[in-house]
Amino acid sequence: MNGYRIAVIPGDGIGGEVVPAGIEALEATAGRFGLRLEFTDFGFASAGYWQRHGTMLPADWEATLRGFDAIFFGAVGWPEVVPDHISLWGSLLQFRRTFDQYVNLRPCRLMPGVRGPLAGREPGDIDFLVVRENTEGEYSSVGGRIFEGTERETVLQETVMTRIGVDRVLKYAFEQAERRPGRHLTSATKSNGIAISMPYWDERFAAMSERFPDVRVDRFHIDALAAQFVLHPDWFDVVVASNLFGDILSDLGPACTGTLGIAPSANINPDRLHPSLFEPVHGSAPDIAGQGIANPIGQIWCGSMMLDHLGHPEAAAHLLGAIEDVLAYGPGGAPLTPDLHGTGTTVELGRAVAERVRER
Ligand code: ATP
Ligand code: MG
Repeated sequence: MNGYRIAVIPGDGIGGEVVPAGIEALEATAGRFGLRLEFTDFGFASAGYWQRHGTMLPADWEATLRGFDAIFFGAVGWPEVVPDHISLWGSLLQFRRTFDQYVNLRPCRLMPGVRGPLAGREPGDIDFLVVRENTEGEYSSVGGRIFEGTERETVLQETVMTRIGVDRVLKYAFEQAERRPGRHLTSATKSNGIAISMPYWDERFAAMSERFPDVRVDRFHIDALAAQFVLHPDWFDVVVASNLFGDILSDLGPACTGTLGIAPSANINPDRLHPSLFEPVHGSAPDIAGQGIANPIGQIWCGSMMLDHLGHPEAAAHLLGAIEDVLAYGPGGAPLTPDLHGTGTTVELGRAVAERVRER
């Protein structure tokens, strides 16, 4: 299959600026690889929609989006107009839950020309993938308060791990590791302190590893793992973690690789029963919105992840290569945006990547 229908949701702020740059690069890539991408734009999941309708999404959003092969998302959130908990719960988290996007993916790669915060690291030294469980674990709402307002006030919140939920994210992580040259999977645990749920996670990890004999495995306690991300990021290839640990690692990982403007993420339903969603790590960036200077690389990289998910790894790698080439030209040779110490605009940088896609 070579034709795909993509739902486009630019959302708020710089979402509306970086998404067109992402589409331009995707169209160039599709042209090179004989793919047909049909983009359909939606204005919901934005502050503007909320102002007009009092909700973030139309009542029939699920039926509307269900027929698409993927969702290409910009950023949601405009705190001056809608409180963040409403914009987030009213849109992204609905998608995540309804479409059972049980994997959150964050590639962490030190790109050429990007100055990361870790001294002495070269592009190529850091290149790993964080796979986060996205539906259960520590983020359950099982629990409550008792003896409220008294000295015995007690609060409980349970971690929920199901065999299906744990196994399916572990399996996905092993499959990702198996595809990569390093074939190395690290599990984040804390079974020395969290005595019931984490030993179960370890047990399922060990069981799953028997099905993937080609993947080398290890595990770290989350505290040591966080330190290791900073001290020896070159150790990692694919890292799999529960919801809470993955949340932490998927911010720490991209932070080790430099600017927020280039980091992508994906919420994936690996079984392809529902559309997956691709969105940059950054938010709507109200402080620079409307100036045309937002870095579109995170959004474009999301496009590469989307092509990979749709089953076109060569096209995905080609687009990522074009991004790397353009970044490697530096501010002297490419219209890099101000966050990358250049004077280029969103449109110019997006166009440079699209051109590179066509010529490389
Ligand atoms: P979220 O909406 O996810 O909570 P946030 O409000 O914490 O995100 P962002 O909106 O991502 O944060 O902005 C954080 C900072 O990073 C801002 O100063 C913003 O200008 C900058 N920034 C974010 N994205 C980009 C980008 N694509 N290009 C350049 N700068 C960016
Ligand atoms: Mg924000």
